[in-house]
Amino acid sequence: MNDITFQSSPYREEAGEGALATLLRPNILALKPYSSARNEYSGKEARVFLDANENPYNSPYNRYPDPLQTELKAKLAIIKGVKPEQVFLGNGSDEAIDLAYRCFTRPGIDNVVAIEPTYGMYRVCADINDVEYRPVLLDEHFQMSADKLLEACDEKTKVIWICSPNNPTGNHIRQEEIIRVLQRFKGIVIIDEAYADFSRRPSFRHVLSHFPRLIVMQTFSKAWGCAAIRLGMAFASKDIIDIYNKVKYPYNVNLLTQQHALKVLDNMEEIDRWMSLVLAERAVVMRAVQTLPYCRQVYPTDANFFLARMDDAQRVYDYLVDQGIIVRNRTRVERCQNCLRITIGTKEENSTLIGALRRFPD
Ligand SMILES: *Cc1c(COP(=O)(O)O)cnc(C)c1O
Repeated sequence: MNDITFQSSPYREEAGEGALATLLRPNILALKPYSSARNEYSGKEARVFLDANENPYNSPYNRYPDPLQTELKAKLAIIKGVKPEQVFLGNGSDEAIDLAYRCFTRPGIDNVVAIEPTYGMYRVCADINDVEYRPVLLDEHFQMSADKLLEACDEKTKVIWICSPNNPTGNHIRQEEIIRVLQRFKGIVIIDEAYADFSRRPSFRHVLSHFPRLIVMQTFSKAWGCAAIRLGMAFASKDIIDIYNKVKYPYNVNLLTQQHALKVLDNMEEIDRWMSLVLAERAVVMRAVQTLPYCRQVYPTDANFFLARMDDAQRVYDYLVDQGIIVRNRTRVERCQNCLRITIGTKEENSTLIGALRRFPD
């Protein structure tokens, strides 16, 4: 694994608590958070808990869960090579995405900048929070220009969204360009690494100590096979994590999810096995799709899916639906005209797909 390297920049000022305060919504800066029964009492020695109006029966589900997921974060921090206080856990990455808006952007005033095309939730959450969303088109290789991104920013830009490996394009965003944004932009930079485990590129969470306004997001939903339990991760400076913890719902990650996640972390070899299978199958499926006479291009990928440009994506999509096979039609997304996004499944699912595609009446 190669490292993330960069030269210390003379432009970069140290952003401590003071700099962060100027980026926060004023009401969030002033917020006095809800203090739950479990917050106020955190010792371990007590035997009788009569402080939270819980039912004394139906153990262990009668008790409120740990609001800060202490045990889970301790284990995760070791696996991810960060400190537990640099970890936020939420109800999917979706919660961490929404929190960025609720903490840093003033509705009707501030704006955010994002690469385009990318994951749809950044825009949906901007719309829900009444925050202007400024998409900056990627080039024809789906690469980002730091300069173009920075040109789209003004003094009201609080957040820049970068997804790498990117969804729906599958490729990673060039490291030098991301570093350039990190060194130049004075606001929050969020790098969504939902697909990082499928890529050989190093995670940006390893450079968190150099960039106090960087947030790196990952998830249990993809490589770790746990989309159903809804568990997303954000890694950042302690100052940022403290703010997220102040704003989130007190018991945002339920007990069943915390328990299952702990089991997953005890079984990381299984995830490695899944990864090898998916990456081997990815090569097989991409090669097969590339040889289809009606496929114009298969794009390189660093994720568990890839983008394929067809002569007529809509016709292929409709045909596959008829065969009971669902892929993602991205033809109406800018830069993705006639593109299908295909997720890698099991060996059997993939050969079903390839068989159907070979029989397509072109
Ligand atoms: C799938 C995906 C996620 C995961 O979201 P969860 O809410 O954690 O399931 C996050 N970001 C991107 C870009 C994704 O494609």
